[in-house]
Amino acid sequence: MDFFISKEQMMLKNEIIDFAKNHLNDNKYIETFSMEMWKEISDLGLLGVTVSEQYGGLEESYLTAALMFEGLGYACKNNGFIFVINNHIWVGQNLIYLYGSEELKEKYLEKMVAGQKIGAIAITEAEAGSDAMSMATHAEDKGDHYVLNGTKMFISNGPIADIFIVFAVTSEGAFKRYTAFVIEKEFEGFQVCEDIKKMGLGACPTSEIVLDNCIVPKENVLGRFNMGANIMTAALEWERCYEFAPHVGVMQRIMEKCLEHVNNRKQFNRLIGENQSISHKIADMQMSIELSRLMLYKIAWLKDQGKSAFMESSIFKTYVSENYIKTCRDALQIFGAYGYTKDYEIERELRDALACSIYSGTNEMQKNTIYNMIRSRVV
Ligand SMILES: Cc1cc2nc3c(=O)[nH]c(=O)nc-3n(C[C@H](O)[C@H](O)[C@H](O)COP(=O)(O)OP(=O)(O)OC[C@H]3O[C@@H](n4cnc5c(N)ncnc54)[C@H](O)[C@@H]3O)c2cc1C
Repeated sequence: MDFFISKEQMMLKNEIIDFAKNHLNDNKYIETFSMEMWKEISDLGLLGVTVSEQYGGLEESYLTAALMFEGLGYACKNNGFIFVINNHIWVGQNLIYLYGSEELKEKYLEKMVAGQKIGAIAITEAEAGSDAMSMATHAEDKGDHYVLNGTKMFISNGPIADIFIVFAVTSEGAFKRYTAFVIEKEFEGFQVCEDIKKMGLGACPTSEIVLDNCIVPKENVLGRFNMGANIMTAALEWERCYEFAPHVGVMQRIMEKCLEHVNNRKQFNRLIGENQSISHKIADMQMSIELSRLMLYKIAWLKDQGKSAFMESSIFKTYVSENYIKTCRDALQIFGAYGYTKDYEIERELRDALACSIYSGTNEMQKNTIYNMIRSRVV
């Protein structure tokens, strides 16, 4: 492993921090998606951070992207809005960039990079969560088009997205096969249901989507027909890395807020930070930040080498989510009753954080993956 962080990379990270502090923290958009903020982040160019200039992107490295998303999480307290950005980039647009035909790229990529079209991914179903491969949504070949039927559940960005990457069964039999389709919200038979109310991440609308004899042109197959399982695996790998990169920055922001508090709040005539039970919580936060950051940069380095980071992204996802939740939980304890109020926003950080042990595949499923991978090396 060999990565060096240049002055230019740090400048880009700092630019994002300044931008987010000044443009992405309007409290009125904490519980609702803001098209105004979406336009601002689109104009900044962040949406196309790793996409080639040919499609309007910045063509930056994956390490630079990791730094920028860490900076975004540090400076933007609207975790739901960051979730919208991440779903759009890493499991929407990025899949078209990496697996799409030239025709699909021409049709969708530039508009997505410019933020004119918002992306989403649809894998989960009501009866197929962790066991995503048991999905029932299927596609039928009708000669010059496919007809899709099924219902997808918990689709982040659902109510605001224009382009959906939808996974469906395309071959039954002994070996079930899947295909990924690029579906526009205007396609016949495609329906977006109402916003599902969640305990956190309020700025990211979520919904069910229904495919009722949905007609999809043949050219909207993403990658190769019957090869959707590979794309799904890759999508989840990207998600487990880059959707969790901002959480490293969020932990830093929360740690600094706690540090300030314990150095101001006095009880029994001394700073509460002088109690080891309090200072150790902050030490734990710093250890989580440092170790998460190293793992993030390692994955980004692997990606820049064109290598797989399948097990690494599962480790990163699980480690970050467990420690991000612990950081929020400890922050609440450090702030006492103030932390329990809405005013200090720590209870919201905790509510937002709790989702991350579930999305992108639950932590239990990640531990299954990690165990199976190391086991396959020795058995
Ligand atoms: C905020 C949020 C956003 C989401 N966004 C999207 C999206 O954009 N697109 C999309 O397709 N999906 C999305 N999802 C869905 C998400 O991928 C699923 O919730 C997740 O895969 C788990 O499925 P489930 O909720 O049905 O839980 P279940 O699969 O029912 O699991 C319930 C519990 O059982 C455990 N469990 C199940 N099987 C095993 C096993 N073999 N070993 C050990 N433990 C097991 C799980 O770990 C979990 O604790 C989102 C979810 C959330 C919370």
